[in-house]
Amino acid sequence: MTGLRRAIPQSVTASGGTASAFEADVSRLKAHPRFPGMEVDRSEAVLVAGLLGQKGERSLILNGHVDVVPVGDRHAWHASPWSAHIQAGRLHGRGACDMKAGVAVGISAAAALKKSGLPLRGRLTVQSVVGEEDGGIGSFAMAERGYRADAAYVLEPTRLRVIPAQAGALSFRLRIRGRSAHASVRYDGVSAIEKFELVEVRLRQLERSLNQQAHPLFSDYPIAYALSIGRLRAGSWSSTVPDELEAEGRVGVPVGMASGEVRRQFAAAIADAAQRDPWLCEYPPQVEWYGGQFDAVEVDPKLPAFAALQAAHAEEFGVPAELVGAPYGSDMRLLVHEAETPAILYGPGDIRQAHATDEWIAVDEIVQAARVITAASARYLAT
Ligand SMILES: [Zn+2]
Repeated sequence: MTGLRRAIPQSVTASGGTASAFEADVSRLKAHPRFPGMEVDRSEAVLVAGLLGQKGERSLILNGHVDVVPVGDRHAWHASPWSAHIQAGRLHGRGACDMKAGVAVGISAAAALKKSGLPLRGRLTVQSVVGEEDGGIGSFAMAERGYRADAAYVLEPTRLRVIPAQAGALSFRLRIRGRSAHASVRYDGVSAIEKFELVEVRLRQLERSLNQQAHPLFSDYPIAYALSIGRLRAGSWSSTVPDELEAEGRVGVPVGMASGEVRRQFAAAIADAAQRDPWLCEYPPQVEWYGGQFDAVEVDPKLPAFAALQAAHAEEFGVPAELVGAPYGSDMRLLVHEAETPAILYGPGDIRQAHATDEWIAVDEIVQAARVITAASARYLAT
């Protein structure tokens, strides 16, 4: 740990600024009423902030996360997930797209600005955080420590599209009770699986109602705010009627809706399903919110820092940047809600490569993103 703490600032300061690394107080943050959730059992979280320029009339944060999701089946990969090898213009490896490339873009933009010698009218902060994938403890800790700016670019993979609106996502766990019996006399028992089917039908209705008025930036998605069950566990024996079921999933939070409202509608849907069934009426399903709790978020893409980014993009490519919404959660909402820093997503790589086997990112796109982010930072911060 000590070695790590020493090593990271050196790599950042190599770009010519100053850097500070600090360790988040995990147990204290976990007790915070707005703690964004955590699914990994971690006792430490090291964050790094690289600073360029002085406090002034403007400030900008470039945010990226260095944590990655597990590799899954290692043998399904064509090469080591940790090789970072480049083949046919693609850099391969877990985290290549989501989002070491984005972090590299942030650091290289800071280095290029420093090298340019352009006088800055404010401070550029490059944030390297952990814990994004399971809730966002890193960006939450950054906000808690007082890191704020007039705007932030979160350098997640967006295929170089500008994302000013992002849906939220809330992880939930459902417990449904049944009554066990020998399968040959299953009519004497109550199957928790069959009761779950009643609940699931009602949850599909909830999903439809959450998607009734999709935000214009989300019109290309078949489902903007998805409700999906990711894990099911029920019963203990093939010829026993299952007396318990546990389901885990996530429900999307529409842009413009508070997470609390989604939780309320979810609870109402479960209660509605329960009151139509005598067994569920007597033994209502239990709902628990756990792990990642991502609020939805939206910012004004016309703010000066975001206009600078769109101008830099248009200059690089000769066409305006495409504005879209994102149906997945990220640290963007923590910057906006916790650090009071308007933030958008913009970065190299395709979200479809994120978390995938043989994850890759096009090297050319990393370079293009670095050019755009450097130019955008200069447009916004340089005098
Ligand atoms: Zn990411």
